[in-house]
Amino acid sequence: MDLQTARSRAQELRKILEYNSRLYYEQDAPEMEDYEYDMLNRELKEIEAQFPELVDSASPTQHVGGAASSRFAKVTHAVKMESLLDAFSEEEIRDFDRRVRETGVEPEYVVEIKIDGLSCSLEYENGTLVRASTRGDGVVGEDVTANVMAVQSIPKKLENAPEFLEVRGEIYMPHDTFNRLREQQELDGVQPFKNPRNAAAGSLRQKDAAITGSRGLAIFVFNIQQIRGKELHSHKESLDYLKQLGIPVSPRYSVFTSIEDVLAEIKDIGNHRQDLSFDMDGAVVKVNDFTQREQMGSTNKFPRWAVAFKYPPEVKETELLDVEVAVGRTGVLTPTAVFNPVFLAGTTVSRATLHNEDFIRQFDLHIGDCIQVRKAGDIIPEVIGVSARKEGAEPYVLPAVCPSCGEPVVHLADEAALRCINPECPAQALRNLIHFASRDAMDIDGLGTAVCTQLTDKSLVHTVADLYSLEKEQLLKLDKFKEKSADNLLNAIQKSKDNNLDKLIFGLGIRNIGDKAAALLAEHFGTMDALCNATAEQICQIDGFGDTMAQSVVSFFEKEGTSDLLSRLKQAGVNMEWHGEKKTDILLGKTLVVTGTLETLSRNEAEALIVKNGGKASGSVSKKTSYLVAGAAAGSKLTKAQTLGIPVLTEQEFLDMLK
Ligand code: NAD
Repeated sequence: MDLQTARSRAQELRKILEYNSRLYYEQDAPEMEDYEYDMLNRELKEIEAQFPELVDSASPTQHVGGAASSRFAKVTHAVKMESLLDAFSEEEIRDFDRRVRETGVEPEYVVEIKIDGLSCSLEYENGTLVRASTRGDGVVGEDVTANVMAVQSIPKKLENAPEFLEVRGEIYMPHDTFNRLREQQELDGVQPFKNPRNAAAGSLRQKDAAITGSRGLAIFVFNIQQIRGKELHSHKESLDYLKQLGIPVSPRYSVFTSIEDVLAEIKDIGNHRQDLSFDMDGAVVKVNDFTQREQMGSTNKFPRWAVAFKYPPEVKETELLDVEVAVGRTGVLTPTAVFNPVFLAGTTVSRATLHNEDFIRQFDLHIGDCIQVRKAGDIIPEVIGVSARKEGAEPYVLPAVCPSCGEPVVHLADEAALRCINPECPAQALRNLIHFASRDAMDIDGLGTAVCTQLTDKSLVHTVADLYSLEKEQLLKLDKFKEKSADNLLNAIQKSKDNNLDKLIFGLGIRNIGDKAAALLAEHFGTMDALCNATAEQICQIDGFGDTMAQSVVSFFEKEGTSDLLSRLKQAGVNMEWHGEKKTDILLGKTLVVTGTLETLSRNEAEALIVKNGGKASGSVSKKTSYLVAGAAAGSKLTKAQTLGIPVLTEQEFLDMLK
């Protein structure tokens, strides 16, 4: 890498790291996985090591991440709250040991669990808790005394305490508390915390201490920052002493003299990670002796006498109990692995998609296999391998017939998926109905999954056209249906007849045709009849349409049953024409991406406006993106746009542009 490339990459990395640091430390709402963050940070460190002239004191590699928020009074720490040097391999731990020994000391190490929460200092005067503060930037933190006072599990009074004691620990949220909180947040319709670390940080940094108190937080203390009235000589001695005082300390700490034993302990902690009732993200190795520590000192970010080993993203092993197969709207069979529940990256999971037959074959899955599961992007569980097989286990084979209608399933050319092609398949009919009624399609209020299921189960609806001949008496036979709900549903169905043509086209569930493509078709052809008679070549003339999409449309209209379905819908009075404002070409040749929550428009409405004004609405940011329209809580797309230097518009700026 030459200096110029290094400089621009370093700038880019700093931007990304600073943005994500703010989300992580100040808003307790990260978008990036810790591991990903760590790897980018590492890349920056390597560039700075190779090109020392690029080192900048403002770089995230040079200072403790985070800042004290103005929501709290500020506390200047008498003893700096440092961060830790991180290591990701055995080799880096050995390097650390080498550096320690090079300073002339013969070390003893304490290895302990690195708890994933947020750092907090507690100050006790004559055994009474007088102040609590967060780390902030390491020098100035936030005064969270009132909040910490409300946390039941944190001792407020110590027996036989020294005159003055400042300890540092990690405030965390235990798994069961976190799960309960998430369930409650989901019920309350509040955005749930992503993981226990953010939940702990978000709960501690509340304006209302009573909320903090209600969140079931806990602490593990891992260091004495200052002490008067007692002399201690080593870390191990200090942890034992704190324990004696009744302070909850690091749950596992042991002393080792050889680096081999240190490495074995790190491995063992990692192997027992799953047994813990709280999140951890590593193991910390610390020189035990205080005099040796002093001799070694600190950089401006971390002490030279400690290192944090960070484990790679969590993978859990569990037993594959079953594979469930669902039939989608287009007849695709989707297999889902059902396994013994495991706690993974903050939540309990028991299911993961297996995608298709090839995926199952790739792992040669057998029911009863010990499978490895992890969370992609810390959110979606995925199966990544098989680690053990029971003797005599049979390979799992996807069914040869549709689990819903019993008709044989087929592989269409060039497709990995198996499909049920029976047009009468009840599972598909149900999925079609749910899709037809959904918000972006015909938007029929009150016709959700449960009602659709009843309508198909009771054979009241076979195709979407049957909706328009439903009668009140029939609806009254459905579970929980009363006069009012039946009237409301009939009115909503009636109202859907006036929908614009694009909603109907999208609602028909044509393969490869999403809502934006449906809008383009409606506008281009103007009527359902014209679309029905269009050739693939004519459809391909629409900007953004390729052969596959065009062929899908043609095949749909050629399919047995389509023309009957359309004539029944027409007869029922469903609108078959496009009533649209004429297109402008203000955004011609431009590609826009919408992200976050806009103030007045839904994302779909904003995208429809883009298309209506000649632009292309895309779902992902790339170098080709002309503008990003970003609303509140915009996430990784905003980061990417900023990184690529793509102009970012507010909703108002976007609307002004269309005037
Ligand atoms: P760190 O978390 O890597 O290590 C230092 C912290 O470990 C200390 O502040 C301390 O509170 C804590 N700790 C827990 N148990 C400990 C123990 N037994 N002994 C000593 N300390 C213990 O460093 P950091 O500077 O706090 O944060 C950097 C890390 O935060 C990154 O490595 C990354 O994983 C994460 N981060 C993530 C994002 C994101 O977007 N996902 C953004 C910023 C930071």
